[in-house]
Amino acid sequence: DVPPNDLEAFWMPMTANRRFKKTPMFFSAAEGMYYATPDGRRVLDAIAGLWCVNAGHCHPRIVEAIRAQAGKLDYASSFGVGHPLAFHFANRVVEIAPPGFRHLFLAGSGSEAVDSALKFALAYHRARGEGHRQRLIGRQRAYHGVGFGGLSVSGIGWQRAQFGALLPATSHLPHTHDLARNAFSRGQPAHGVEFADALEGLLFAVDPSTVAAVIVEPVAGAGGVLPPPQGYLQRLREICDRHGILLIFDEVVTGFGRLGAPFAAQALGVGPDLITCAKGMTSGTVPMGGVLISDRVHDGLSQGPEAVPELAHGYTYSGHPLACAAGLAALDVYRDEGLFERAARLAPIWEDALHGLRTLGPVRDIRNLGLLGAIEIDGGDGAPGERARACAEVCLERGVFIRALGDTLILSPPLVIDEGQIGQIVDAIGSGLRRLAA
Ligand code: PMP
Repeated sequence: DVPPNDLEAFWMPMTANRRFKKTPMFFSAAEGMYYATPDGRRVLDAIAGLWCVNAGHCHPRIVEAIRAQAGKLDYASSFGVGHPLAFHFANRVVEIAPPGFRHLFLAGSGSEAVDSALKFALAYHRARGEGHRQRLIGRQRAYHGVGFGGLSVSGIGWQRAQFGALLPATSHLPHTHDLARNAFSRGQPAHGVEFADALEGLLFAVDPSTVAAVIVEPVAGAGGVLPPPQGYLQRLREICDRHGILLIFDEVVTGFGRLGAPFAAQALGVGPDLITCAKGMTSGTVPMGGVLISDRVHDGLSQGPEAVPELAHGYTYSGHPLACAAGLAALDVYRDEGLFERAARLAPIWEDALHGLRTLGPVRDIRNLGLLGAIEIDGGDGAPGERARACAEVCLERGVFIRALGDTLILSPPLVIDEGQIGQIVDAIGSGLRRLAA
């Protein structure tokens, strides 16, 4: 364990540790739903690490698969050579993907997956002789990682502002967070399908024939867990189709069961053209990201009139053997333990539990979909985020680890959670809210 006086040796940009407490919270071990601290406390993990440990921490089958693979084949590149596990893994992911997605590109993280998907969209149009389609459209409050492409289409201003102009040809749709009409909605809000029409407005201004792709998280995650209004994603799909624009779902958070189906595309019944994923892909164990590519995009890329024989894109760690082994084991666990179905079964219980918090303190909104949740705190007159952070600290004192993002408490537990643990999470948040109200 790192002695506290050595902490300054680390520079940990963009981690909450230093702001959360003077001394960072250390987790030194984990098992199932729980982290353990160096001083021996057990902490219930209500956010699956960072929305990733969907099968629970240190799942023995995943641990064993990584261990076995590490002693067998440590590395093989995806350039000119390969290894069978990457093909097995891709086939297994494709089996659970929405219909019409028979290709998987492998990367090393969510940010790499997003940048890859954006590049594939540009290359797709180019291969079809439409290289003038270069504009990428994101959305306010979106989080798409830290690559130049992903950050350029992200819509959280303070994260972008530090780095200047980023990619030039980008635009942003409005977010769908409509507290006035939708506060305390359960699941997908009833109002707001017309937010999608802003895309038509934007296309009027920028010329639709210059637009390559629209990228959205089906449920905006780091922007505050914002489930899409009913009909919104369907309408985005229709508008994109009308104008020959690709629709990308960033499923880094929603992929691998979070909404009770393998992907949000299936849970919400909307078919995008490209799907990015990461996190739950290996249940958070070994870094990995990926892009599911629809047959239509794949065929356009490879057979369009101006297609190139081989796309100049790939990473040293594309299809890393350890990640593939972890991913295969995670898929086995998801299947054998029925974890996606479990998420679907628990979702209404989760919803009731979260919405029961409404009257316990200064709560402005409660949102949920699948096993995602958010409690938006009324910040009052204090500094932004101060009350939410205080509430998260009470939870930690009570042995529950949650994340405060601005004024919002974010919840995204491992899919192995049980009803008792859901109760523990809301009890801890309830204590925090009562303390704020006192
Ligand atoms: N997209 C979304 C929707 C995400 O939530 C994240 C990470 N939280 C990313 C992309 C980036 O993933 P990574 O941090 O693995 O690069």
